[in-house]
Amino acid sequence: MRALKIAFITPEALPFIKTGGLADISGVLPNIIAQMGHSVRVFLPLYRQIKTNFANLENTGIEITCEIADKKYYGNIFILPAKDSKPEIYFIENDYFFDREEPYRNVETGKDYNDNDERIIFFNMAILQALKKMLWPPDIIHCNDWQSSLIPSYLKTLYKDDSFFYNTRTVLTIHNLAYQGQFKAESFAKLGIQKEHFYPAGPFEYWGKINFLKSGIYYADEITTVSPTYAKEIQSAGDYGMGLEGVIKDKSGHLTGILNGVDYMIWSPKTDKLIPFRYFPANLSGKKKNKLEILKTANLPLRIEEPLIGMISRLDNQKGFDLLQEIMDGLLNLKLQFILLGTGDGKYHKFFKEMEKKYPDRIKAFLEFDNKLAHLISAGADIFLMPSRYEPCGLNQMYSLKYGTVPIIRKTGGLADTVVNFDEQTLRGTGFVFENYDSGELLETIKKAVGFYARKKIWFKIIKQGMGEDFSWDTSARKYEELYRALIK
Ligand code: ADP
Repeated sequence: MRALKIAFITPEALPFIKTGGLADISGVLPNIIAQMGHSVRVFLPLYRQIKTNFANLENTGIEITCEIADKKYYGNIFILPAKDSKPEIYFIENDYFFDREEPYRNVETGKDYNDNDERIIFFNMAILQALKKMLWPPDIIHCNDWQSSLIPSYLKTLYKDDSFFYNTRTVLTIHNLAYQGQFKAESFAKLGIQKEHFYPAGPFEYWGKINFLKSGIYYADEITTVSPTYAKEIQSAGDYGMGLEGVIKDKSGHLTGILNGVDYMIWSPKTDKLIPFRYFPANLSGKKKNKLEILKTANLPLRIEEPLIGMISRLDNQKGFDLLQEIMDGLLNLKLQFILLGTGDGKYHKFFKEMEKKYPDRIKAFLEFDNKLAHLISAGADIFLMPSRYEPCGLNQMYSLKYGTVPIIRKTGGLADTVVNFDEQTLRGTGFVFENYDSGELLETIKKAVGFYARKKIWFKIIKQGMGEDFSWDTSARKYEELYRALIK
């Protein structure tokens, strides 16, 4: 079978820039697809952090001009000097749009940049221009989230009759339906797409606004999302469909849930260079030492016999923090310790600071983004908590399983697809699962887990069953490959 030409478009990817799980995925999936023998080109915006940290980027000499709302913007395409089998990584440069402190929002105000519509229009337009200038018509353009959702829309409108893209098909992966790229209706004129495409309930219109993700879902040839359960959930209203359930249901014949994989080169306690003590299922002594290390780092008393609960998360309503708030006193009155690593909503920063003052020997909240610390908590904690309201896939529960850190999760999305509830009769299972978004259920489940933590033989069985799970990328990458092939037939 012939090798495919695949353009992978993403607003973030490791090791260049990361705000969430999308960066983990974009940092590994294109590499695996390339290793399968395909020709892959990844496209990212050239953010300030990338410019600073990757001084060896080279200008390809390809120049871009985009007209947005009667103004011309210019850009260049940079490339990371590539090793042979790796995908080629391209960066869209325009300092006015991308040379900023953070990718999406103003650090001082915590609000999204007010020209995010123009920044993404530029990014999407620039990529289509770049592909043409490279004389590289892809078989597949794999888009991710609202930040590349305009590409399918442009291909089916402005570029409809362009023979260059005649054989190009699009895949749009939804990593989180909560982020849609909604702007005032006036933004539509900036797209340069004919007026007749903007009409009530049409592909771009959403309750009097323009919605970039909606247009992508409407126009993409195939939609994927990051777990089978989330693929079902997003066809229903409320927290799941987020108002787009209608357009998603209409495309249900072209919607697949493909579970994200884990990059075990990065997330494995056997080889992890970011933790001081490495370990494996047959000898967990290193795990205990990591626990001591994280307790010391957190300045908590070394109560090694009490269970240590860890949490690494964006501090966002999605992640179940409102539930946790309701039960935090009850929780910290149990015999356990708690370490949180996260940034986000100011109200949760304040809340966890208060909790630290109230229970200084029980809880430490690291209110920052720190990858090394994330690894140490994954390794050192006994229990990992992820009580999400909804969770497209979730990565930390899969990392935790591999690190022998027993997850407590709510049965939703990718969490439901990856953690098996412990069954007291059969002693099978890898974690503790609760069903309803209810703080009482959450507390009961934590108490249950803490109860089993004291029963060492059973606890080690649960740990080992979790460590034996395998969510490596190979299976998922094959599914993407099958999808690409089916599309170009
Ligand atoms: P989401 O993408 O919704 O934030 P995921 O579970 O899919 O959630 O991915 C989150 C990723 O970001 C994980 O790799 C996690 O370890 C990492 N992460 C989240 N918050 C922090 C933090 N404060 N410091 C370091 N890593 C973090």
